[in-house]
Amino acid sequence: MSSPFFPEMHDLAKLVNPKGSFPTRDGEPISLANGKVFANLDFSKLGLEDKKHLPTLQAIFYAGQFPKEAELDSELKKKLFLLQLAHRLASAFQVHPMPLSEELSPSLYKLWQPQHHLLNPYKPPINNGAALKEALEMATSWEKGQGFWERYSPYLRIRSDCDYKPFNIASLFSHSFLTSQFYKALEEKVTELQDPWRLSLGGEEAFTPEEAEQKWFGCIVWGQVYFYQKPQVPDDLKVFRKVQEAIAALEEAFPSNLIASFQNHFWLFIPGKDKQSLDKVAGIFLERGFPVTLRYNEAPLATLGQSKAIEFRIILLEAMASELERLKGEKENQKTQVEEDLKAQEKIAAELSQEIARLEEELTRLTSPKTRHATRKLKREAEKRFESVTSRIQSLRNELTELEGVLGKIGKEIAWLKEQLAKEKAEKSKGPTWYQEEKHPPEIQRKQRGASLCQVCSVRQPVQGSELCPVCQEIRTTGEELTSQAPWLSNGYLLWLHCFFEPRFWQHAILTLFSNYLDKVNPGIWEASQRFQIKTSLRWPVILKDFIGDLQSFLKELELEICRLVGARNRLRLADNLWVMPISRGTKIMVLLRSYIALLERFFPAFIPLADMPLYLGMSIAPASEQFFAQWRYLRRPPQPISIKLPDQERLEVSIDTMKELIRYGEVLVSYRQRRRPSLEQVRIEELIARNIIKRQDVKTFQQLMGWEGT
Ligand SMILES: [Zn+2]
Repeated sequence: MSSPFFPEMHDLAKLVNPKGSFPTRDGEPISLANGKVFANLDFSKLGLEDKKHLPTLQAIFYAGQFPKEAELDSELKKKLFLLQLAHRLASAFQVHPMPLSEELSPSLYKLWQPQHHLLNPYKPPINNGAALKEALEMATSWEKGQGFWERYSPYLRIRSDCDYKPFNIASLFSHSFLTSQFYKALEEKVTELQDPWRLSLGGEEAFTPEEAEQKWFGCIVWGQVYFYQKPQVPDDLKVFRKVQEAIAALEEAFPSNLIASFQNHFWLFIPGKDKQSLDKVAGIFLERGFPVTLRYNEAPLATLGQSKAIEFRIILLEAMASELERLKGEKENQKTQVEEDLKAQEKIAAELSQEIARLEEELTRLTSPKTRHATRKLKREAEKRFESVTSRIQSLRNELTELEGVLGKIGKEIAWLKEQLAKEKAEKSKGPTWYQEEKHPPEIQRKQRGASLCQVCSVRQPVQGSELCPVCQEIRTTGEELTSQAPWLSNGYLLWLHCFFEPRFWQHAILTLFSNYLDKVNPGIWEASQRFQIKTSLRWPVILKDFIGDLQSFLKELELEICRLVGARNRLRLADNLWVMPISRGTKIMVLLRSYIALLERFFPAFIPLADMPLYLGMSIAPASEQFFAQWRYLRRPPQPISIKLPDQERLEVSIDTMKELIRYGEVLVSYRQRRRPSLEQVRIEELIARNIIKRQDVKTFQQLMGWEGT
């Protein structure tokens, strides 16, 4: 049996405290430097001398890198080769330019939650020989290795995979998890060839990981599952669970390929140019009767997963160019000022030197000691002033040279940006970098005159003697009846609540937030071309993995708030982000809105002010007798970050900030019309309306919602 290999442990040294006490052969602090991880560690004192050759320990010593110089047996060589590829794909950045400061920042900086690292500073868990022995032993057997995640997750989640700002934006947890996934996915498809030794993926052979990164292709798939069903009775709502089951089946069929999944979205990594796997992915949904959209991006591993969002690149270049134009104007003004000063000083210098010459000449003529003395004094003073003016002139000249240098550099940067912008715009017209395929189950039919189709999905023929097709029938009849779990589903008013996530907006939001973070950390130090290169080479899969984890925690908290409000038995979770509950008062909805906004501010504060806010809240209040589908049509894609449909079809669709204003003045708003003299708050609302921050109609709808009572 071959020795166990745990790719996820390759960054174990990042959990070690550099100041901890460890047995070292030279008595120096433990070595954790790149390429020298544990180089001076005394393994015999840890009782691990005979384990050093094990592949996971080797991976830890090389920190996931492939050692070009070392002599390795072919099994280990293959492992470290693939590990380097996987480790890079699972990082947020391919290469880090030299850090500008030596200051270590291992705490995770969450782009959407900038306070996170202050509230959760990272402290390494491995502080001494015994703790290190425990950790390294995990790498020695399959059995012990199982404990890795449980033992270290809390630390991995708050430690960044990179030690330096601004690259500390992905967690070591997601990095380690995805390294393991990508490694396994590659290993399944790569074959080893001998004499000379090399690896091959789909017929493309490579001798080094660097070569493989250029020659080997991979594919990142973003899939989205839909359904045709228009639920008629409560039990038809089980379609959401059916979608979840289909995603679970995908996870089972592609355990090594999954990056993340959320509700009806999933993201996969597929090595090679592999259309068959794509078909197999689609097949999982099609055979369950669901259509699926697959968007995928095929690229060499060297660039796979980098955001190619062309709109973002163009916006970024334009913003950088206009910032430089502004800076250029500023520097040119400074230059004019310096030139004027210089001219004035030179004029003074010329006058002074004339004055000195005149006094000099006068001295040759004067004979009286008294007047000679006075003139000499005058001359000395003039010379002193001349000296100081000359030195001022010199410093102005230096300043001018410096400004000219800066202006020259800015000019070059602007030229580069303009050239790049033209290139990107040309690229944009070339078409999408993502391919998109919409797949429908083969059995579905277009509506034909006279043909009878299933009542729920309208795309399949009903089973004989029934109004439903086999798929819809199965959904309706399997599992517990929803009305027995939630008898209230068929009477009174219901509140439907959907948290919608838009991955495309998310990607733009991440790029914007990282761009801001980089500018804040390194204001104007790196050149434009370098800043642009870093900002656009961000690899998003590892960040997505972090984000989906936070999104799930956010939704769990939201569900707790819902339970607190209506009672656990009075809420039905249809999907991780979709609930229905009985509702009788608008004030309860207000409580939910407050909780939702408070949670957003806790989990994703940095998203709130962005134009590309990726999270939307949809709410719909309707009598139970009204069909679900009427609600779903609205909730599926809420038009604004907060979108509420009232029972009488009125709609309140506003940004988070507007909703905060409405809530802040909520109580006043209810009594708005009843008071005679306007309160300060009312004056403030009128001001907000006048400034077009809030629409009068929104205030009215908000009042209506607050005052609503179901009867
Ligand atoms: Zn059907």
